Amino acid sequence: TDSSSALTPKPWISGIAPYVPGKSAGADGRPLIKLSANENPLGTGDKAREAFRASLASADALSRYPDPGSVELRETIAAKYGLDPARVICGNGSDELLHLAAGAYAGAGDEILYVRYGFAVYEIAARRVGATPVEADDRDFATDVEALLAAVTERTRVVYLANPNNPTGTLATRDEVARIHAGLPKNVLFVIDQAYAEYLSAAEDDGGLELAKTEPNIFVTRTFSKIHGLAAERIGWGYAAAEVISALHRIRLPFNVTRAGQAAAVGALGDDDFVNASRAHNATWRAWLTQELESLGNHGVRVVPSATNFLLVLFEGDVSAETVYGRLMDAGYIVRWLPGQGIAQALRMTIGTEDETRGLAAAVRAALAG
Ligand code: PMP
Repeated sequence: TDSSSALTPKPWISGIAPYVPGKSAGADGRPLIKLSANENPLGTGDKAREAFRASLASADALSRYPDPGSVELRETIAAKYGLDPARVICGNGSDELLHLAAGAYAGAGDEILYVRYGFAVYEIAARRVGATPVEADDRDFATDVEALLAAVTERTRVVYLANPNNPTGTLATRDEVARIHAGLPKNVLFVIDQAYAEYLSAAEDDGGLELAKTEPNIFVTRTFSKIHGLAAERIGWGYAAAEVISALHRIRLPFNVTRAGQAAAVGALGDDDFVNASRAHNATWRAWLTQELESLGNHGVRVVPSATNFLLVLFEGDVSAETVYGRLMDAGYIVRWLPGQGIAQALRMTIGTEDETRGLAAAVRAALAG
């Protein structure tokens, strides 16, 4: 029999670089210190852990479907942020919610717009629904409001803005976010992806949630994967006008958030101490690592100012980012090299524990010395 396949994936799929997860062990089998996925180096708060464990206690904890509406979690989120729970949606990570936005509002012939060096999921979300991804010019890795608005056409249906942005770490200000929204046609959904929002100080808040309370075309997304330390459970949430939320519910997977995930997230929202400790730790060691790496400016090292739990570090001297990446791996550290995203001269490094951060800085220094 002929076992050759007659199936043909859609042509765009071969153009997408597969997601290659960070390796967990080096060539010699030693575990690598993983600073490649912007996870919380302090782990998970006790309250989230306890709630997770408790959710597994009943006899049918695994045999019954979870609450399809994530009701308790939505109510807890709404109470915490002063929102209407009916306008909150939970997702299988915020990744699912980002895909849903494209699925509900764009299709063949439409355009989906974002800034160059935007989060990698945006292009895939656009192509999956047959829409055309459009990248606006950046301004030295940050959002250029004028360039973004200039790239809007009558076919634009969704605009994604990660704020702060991954992989660049840059933050668009409250004023810039308001200007983007004011400049968009009313039939464009403005998705403000706030995966790293909890790392911001109150003064840095981009105003997205406030704006979304009254504006019918804003969808704000957040995640429990970063500061809350629950990346393994895949829980995200979003907030928008009731009409938007209703459309997203209709096309989402019916049981998109696990029972244990919903419980853990409720626990996490009751643990301000853990969130505050995580933010403070990050601020201290981000400032420290930034300064350490900037002191290597004579080697062509440049750090993009970060509002997140990671740094985008440019290697523009004699030793390339790729070489540093390999040498860091040999020294036991895995960071993210980004050739697939058009920044082959950069490495993205997550802020780790104190020991990990000090060790990483020393390893970068050694890598540049040869
Ligand atoms: N948006 C941005 C900007 C991110 O960096 C990430 C995580 N890499 C996500 C969304 C998705 O996070 P999750 O699906 O874990 O909620």
